[in-house]
Amino acid sequence: MVMPKMWEQYMDKQALRRAVARAARATVEERLNRGSSGNVSARHDVGFLVTPSGLPSAAIEPEQVVYVDMAGHALGAWPASSEWRIHRDIYRARPEVNAVVHVHSPFAVSLACLRRGLPAFNYMVAVAGGKDIRCADYATFGTQSLSDHVLVALEGRKACLMANHGLVALGVDLERAVALAVEVESLCEQFWRASLLGAPVLLADAEMDEVLERFKSYGAGK
Ligand code: 13P
Ligand code: ZN
Repeated sequence: MVMPKMWEQYMDKQALRRAVARAARATVEERLNRGSSGNVSARHDVGFLVTPSGLPSAAIEPEQVVYVDMAGHALGAWPASSEWRIHRDIYRARPEVNAVVHVHSPFAVSLACLRRGLPAFNYMVAVAGGKDIRCADYATFGTQSLSDHVLVALEGRKACLMANHGLVALGVDLERAVALAVEVESLCEQFWRASLLGAPVLLADAEMDEVLERFKSYGAGK
């Protein structure tokens, strides 16, 4: 998957449409989505560009990507993703976020079906910004209630699971949002596998504090 690194390169609307379509394809290539599950968006202007509803993620064309403003008015030939409220509410609440990825990846969904998030079983849990990765309460897909629950679970975090449904990951750009979704899915797999052998030993609060501190200067600090 080759995507521009800097957010500034996404400022052109057509380039951004292509980047959103490419990121949607990447969620299938990374085995995070199948068929028409999941959706992807990127902040643009006073709204965002989001994948259309009900189309296979691997085959979305840039022209099918829909512009939605913050009032929820959509501009496009296709209906916007049924989860446009989640995307809109994240952009409203989180000025640092420029991309949102929602997937139905198998290990995250399995854990979310138990309505469990990830505790501090691996230091990498801190990649989502805190000492755990929460699971948002259940609500029907496409509803404002689901978006409200997701926003609560995302407080102070860049990712959360969604009860009986999936996973949401945020980023300063599409590349990082997809990479975070891949990482969280991988953590869910590790937690599932470790739990088969016994109860994973959890890191202490102080140990996670240290990791979070180190992450501030690790890589680009993102
Ligand atoms: P859309 O095709 O409407 O984006 O819905 C897919 C999905 O994952 C719903 O939660
Ligand atoms: Zn979904």
